Amino acid sequence: MRTMFSADQIATRIAELGPQIRQSMGPVPITAIVVLKGSVIFASDLVRCIQGDVRLEFLGVSSYEGTESTGHVRITHDLKRSIAGKHCLVVEDIVDTGLTLHYLLAQLRARDPATLKVVSLLDKPSRRTVDVQADFVGFTIEDEFVIGYGLDLDERYRNLPEVAIYEPQIDGA
Ligand code: 5GP
Repeated sequence: MRTMFSADQIATRIAELGPQIRQSMGPVPITAIVVLKGSVIFASDLVRCIQGDVRLEFLGVSSYEGTESTGHVRITHDLKRSIAGKHCLVVEDIVDTGLTLHYLLAQLRARDPATLKVVSLLDKPSRRTVDVQADFVGFTIEDEFVIGYGLDLDERYRNLPEVAIYEPQIDGA
């Protein structure tokens, strides 16, 4: 495992992102739509860096098994409240092919939010297969499979405090 972003680097970047998001969205109540499970740790740090009224909703999707996309996106846990007329911020861990975000945005737009913005901790633009972009990005990265800080490999490594590059030959998993 090789560190890509340390806990300190992540915290510093999130401390910049929070105020940037608030400034861009204005003094409105923000509904943070946390995409389970990978974004939970990022979201919990991020919302504490956004001042004012921020509410939390959770949306479960499943799109991957192992390190490869299955190509299927499925809602496994839906929002518990209506987002119609609300100012929403989708909180993603990583945008890779973009398939998940593309699907999610279509689903959420159909529910008539007043605003629909996206923040992603990580962005892998070189892997994109559909034209979709987060409004706010923590770090743009190369085509590497990363783990930690919420990101998993078959449910492992989410608890690592840093973002690391997964190296199977060293890990031996
Ligand atoms: P996309 O649909 O954009 O290809 O992928 C989105 C989802 O795939 C992310 O929310 C994340 O769960 C998973 N994913 C994509 N790239 C990585 C990666 O490098 N590491 C991990 N752990 N998950 C990834």
